[in-house]
Amino acid sequence: MEIDNSKKISVPDGFLRAFSVQETARKFLWQAYAGGRIASAYLFVGPAGVGKFLAAIEFVKFLKCPNKKDGSPCENCQSCRTINNWDNPDVFIIFPMPKSVWESESRGRAYEDFKKSPHLRPSFEKSSSILLSMIHNVQRFLSTPATGGGGKFVLVADAHKMNKEAANAFLKTLEEPPPDTHIILSTDRAEALLPTIRSRSQIVRFRRLSTEEVVRHLVYTYGFPPERADVVASISEGSIARALLTSSDEFQKVRDDALKLLSDAVKGDIISVWEWASAQKSRMDYARPFLNSLISITRDVAVLSSSNGNILNKDFEGELVSIARRIGSPFDAVDMLSKLLSLQSDLDRNPQYALFYNAVIDVVANSLKL
Ligand SMILES: [Zn+2]
Repeated sequence: MEIDNSKKISVPDGFLRAFSVQETARKFLWQAYAGGRIASAYLFVGPAGVGKFLAAIEFVKFLKCPNKKDGSPCENCQSCRTINNWDNPDVFIIFPMPKSVWESESRGRAYEDFKKSPHLRPSFEKSSSILLSMIHNVQRFLSTPATGGGGKFVLVADAHKMNKEAANAFLKTLEEPPPDTHIILSTDRAEALLPTIRSRSQIVRFRRLSTEEVVRHLVYTYGFPPERADVVASISEGSIARALLTSSDEFQKVRDDALKLLSDAVKGDIISVWEWASAQKSRMDYARPFLNSLISITRDVAVLSSSNGNILNKDFEGELVSIARRIGSPFDAVDMLSKLLSLQSDLDRNPQYALFYNAVIDVVANSLKL
């Protein structure tokens, strides 16, 4: 059988260069551009933290740049500079936030936070969603013609967080998009979108990154020293967002706390352990990252007490080896791990923060027979 290579498309290296590992998405978008068929709506789907939203911005910058060359925007023209600065009059960005933030002057700060680290989302005290009034703003925005070439674009991050009224209003825009306008939705939970929204958008798929790919990204894009990138990437589960979170000072503190708790516990320092638990009280924001760190550390201890396998928290190796030695039996570490994991699913199902820290101590004390 003969293979017809004439239709094989080659994507210029410069096109979405920072996303070179996302071959499927790059090919799909390049084909649309090269064929002059940019859709009125795209849905970028894939795991959290792999850069879907950033890729959307890069794609728009490329499309709107009058001096693009070899698949890359020039980065110097008025259009490129304003898109990099998130103030291009033809590009409108929305993302979930609490109503109280959207309707107050804190809105500007939320945009600044998101712009500063677009792999992450700004954190809010109240629950956030994409609101009906945001969609009304989108509709107003789309009702006037573009000021520069390439049309108008709306970028919607975490589109699955549209509330019901917002989604219904948004559907009208998708059904009758004004000419020369384009919408790019991104989500890691496509199944949570209205099926009618999904079916009116072209799906562009992004994949999970390997640990090596996260390392490369951290080193080349974020200037991490390679040893540090290695540690951070190994606990990131293929997500750049998670790697960046993990590397923040705040998260380092959480990991240090989890290590200290375990190390105090194996030394039998039960007073420090209880003091710690009562100091946390009902800290909601701290519970999940803390439990995740403790689980990751306990998993490493279980590995070290049964073999010399690969551990994730390489920067803690010395302390982890001595904790594993003190625990002695690998069964105790495994027992603790399985109880911590069930605590994690309890936390997902029915968060009881007031009882959470005591429950952690119970698990640790019981497993270590304190
Ligand atoms: Zn340009």
